[in-house]
Amino acid sequence: MSSLTFLGTAPGVPLPGQLCSSALLETPAGRVLVDVGEPAAFTVRDLGWRSSDVAAVFITHAHSDHIGGLPMLLQGGFVEGRKEPLPIFLPRCILAPLRAWLEAVYLPEDFLGYEVQWHPWEPAEGADAEPVTWNGIAVTPTPTTHLEQVFSSSERARAAGRRYRPEQLRAYSLAFQLPDGPRVVFSGDIAKPEDLAVPLETPADVLVTEFCHFPAEAMLGWLKDRPVRRVFLTHLAPFLFGGIEALEAQVHATLPGVDIRVAREKMRVEL
Ligand SMILES: [Zn+2]
Repeated sequence: MSSLTFLGTAPGVPLPGQLCSSALLETPAGRVLVDVGEPAAFTVRDLGWRSSDVAAVFITHAHSDHIGGLPMLLQGGFVEGRKEPLPIFLPRCILAPLRAWLEAVYLPEDFLGYEVQWHPWEPAEGADAEPVTWNGIAVTPTPTTHLEQVFSSSERARAAGRRYRPEQLRAYSLAFQLPDGPRVVFSGDIAKPEDLAVPLETPADVLVTEFCHFPAEAMLGWLKDRPVRRVFLTHLAPFLFGGIEALEAQVHATLPGVDIRVAREKMRVEL
């Protein structure tokens, strides 16, 4: 049976007891990391595994709170003497700068002792990205408007954003169809609940959604009558809502009968 363990649930900055964005899927096909916010390699170790026990990595977008722990994961494999290749699935626009970053931290790929297999996706203009498959897991990336929102939020942001091509300003939601049945949707970072319309056209057993970049009420209202069995809220600071219990009470009052929980570090969920 597959399971999901939250490694980091912080809203863009580590907080007491909260680490940057990362989640671990344990599947019959192997252990998969969804985003690698720091300190993912430490948390994997703290849970009793090694960096080398991570069989594949999927990245929603390159904000540092989502990929800041990737070099240490790769370095962990190097120190541990990893031999198995490590497939990394990611938006094509971040591939070249990411490889340059690994060179900068003295982790050139021909030095690691194991192969990093890059699997970049890139949607055709106006289209969604094609599903990618690994070991029987089918993953569908869908672009979100998160980065467009970030780089349109002020004149300073717009000026900085003009340095990027439009295709570089795409974050992604990732929908995992696991080999033993569950369909798990990770929102990645989004700008509005409607960013999830395409991934949730197909019913999902679990939705892991960020809860940071839009009013809470907007997401709770939008989730009404969506084909989702269980929802986990992540990428949020519980104290802003009066604490986890207060937020869960608000959520359950708004959406009675929907199974929604606030994700916490090392929370493990059977899928
Ligand atoms: Zn983020």
